[in-house]
Amino acid sequence: MTHVVLGHCCKDASCVRVCPQNCIHPAPGEAGFESAETLFIDPRSCIDCTACVEACPASAIKPEWTLTLTERRDAARNAEFFEQAPESRPLSRRIRFEQPLGRPSDRLRIAVVGSGPAAMYTVRELLRRSTSVRITVFEQHGEIGGLLRRGVSRDHIGVRDMIRLFDVPFNDDRVTIIHNTEVGVDVSVDDLRTRFDAVVLACGASQPRRLGPTTADRGEGVYEAIDILVAENCGVSGFRPRGPLGPRSIVIGAGNVAFDVVRWMAKARDRGAAAEAVTEVVVLSRSAPDRASFTPSAFYELLDLENAEVLIDRSGRRPVAAADTPLLRDLAALPAADIWAADGPTATAAGLLRVVLSFGQEVTDLGKTAAGGVAVTTTTGRTFLADSAICATGFTTKQIDGIPVDGRGLVPNRRGRVIALETGEPLDGLYVVGWAKRGASGGVGDNRSCASGTVTQLAADLHSRV
Ligand SMILES: Cc1cc2nc3c(=O)[nH]c(=O)nc-3n(C[C@H](O)[C@H](O)[C@H](O)COP(=O)(O)OP(=O)(O)OC[C@H]3O[C@@H](n4cnc5c(N)ncnc54)[C@H](O)[C@@H]3O)c2cc1C
Ligand code: SF4
Ligand code: SF4
Repeated sequence: MTHVVLGHCCKDASCVRVCPQNCIHPAPGEAGFESAETLFIDPRSCIDCTACVEACPASAIKPEWTLTLTERRDAARNAEFFEQAPESRPLSRRIRFEQPLGRPSDRLRIAVVGSGPAAMYTVRELLRRSTSVRITVFEQHGEIGGLLRRGVSRDHIGVRDMIRLFDVPFNDDRVTIIHNTEVGVDVSVDDLRTRFDAVVLACGASQPRRLGPTTADRGEGVYEAIDILVAENCGVSGFRPRGPLGPRSIVIGAGNVAFDVVRWMAKARDRGAAAEAVTEVVVLSRSAPDRASFTPSAFYELLDLENAEVLIDRSGRRPVAAADTPLLRDLAALPAADIWAADGPTATAAGLLRVVLSFGQEVTDLGKTAAGGVAVTTTTGRTFLADSAICATGFTTKQIDGIPVDGRGLVPNRRGRVIALETGEPLDGLYVVGWAKRGASGGVGDNRSCASGTVTQLAADLHSRV
């Protein structure tokens, strides 16, 4: 028997540090860690000691014998990862001497902008490296947690539970949290730079990336996925569209956020909520199936929906049936279908949400029709008419006065040190972490090694200042 890492692992690597057998890979610093969607346990060397289960903040590790049918796919993915690997990987635990954050007598004052996962891991790392540091966290909302509280789906209980990781660092008496304060509006970046020894931007990237070719304004018929998901996670009454969403809706983009919206549609139908009106949804992916941006676990969550049938557009790009990954093979096995059911949405199987995945469809125009619907045109020359379009096309960092943002929507940086766009020179005392540093990809736990990198750079800079 063995233990298995489940699909919702978010790569904070707490398990790696406690495993006595060194059987969890790719570990931070190993090839493939940055791009891996989850970590995996080597079934050949796991001794079922359970240390990793206790260490995992997302409840993402289970003994193989307790797996549900759906989770058995994860067991196969864990085993496959090691099929090509040598019997035992070299121990990756190199001893690293961490630089403390200045001297205890320095009484450093650090400002952290934002209170999401990247801020939490940054505060933890700063506290670990200094007993005398004073940290002030500025958060624009009334609640801490960032997208972990506002964006992560309520289906992902294990991940949402990670909010408990905030308790210890944010209640430390070296830390002050200032809520309802937007940096750049209520207090300027320049002000922070003069009052603090360093400012760490953990402000995320949750501003929807606008579709270039759109001629339609947001509002009736055209919505942002993040607005729907935040309203569902935080709103008292959930998302209330200004017009009908269905019966036909198009989701533009095919990342995990797009799939969160499709699951919301399917589940809202059970509750008789706004999305009940949707009977058919088309998910447009600009990439081919082998480059799609959703993760395997997000795809299998769709397949597991009881009240949805998942199909693949017969006229879009299709994976080859002999593809070499289980995900591509399962995509190839989806029944092929036309984008809209020929005989109208009411003909779909009773009560089921009809979900059609269409690959290789980059949107070139999104406009409104005279009848009040939407028209979405793609690079293949096809135009799809629907009652609503929901944009899930990625995120950028919101511009804060005094902070550069580059063409990709990131705060330009070198190892976490913010640099000027024009000169590439570091901006004194200004650092960045999390989605604002790396872009909008990666799970909650990915921000842990990211924060460690930024604080390492900050400590080195403080050291060289002495
Ligand atoms: C819809 C959605 C679903 C997701 N689901 C999952 C999932 O299931 N599992 C998973 O592992 N990951 C998931 N993620 C990814 C995860 O949420 C991110 O990895 C993580 O939140 C990024 O952390 P961050 O701290 O960089 O940014 P954020 O979480 O966005 O935190 C940024 C914080 O900064 C604050 N802020 C911004 N600007 C200012 C300002 N000017 N002044 C003061 N405060 C400011 C914001 O209010 C926010 O609190 C999801 C993301 C989205 C969008
Ligand atoms: S159960 Fe023990 S041996 Fe197996 S992966 Fe977890 S920590 Fe390692
Ligand atoms: S969430 Fe963290 S501790 Fe849990 S399995 Fe993934 S990397 Fe390991």
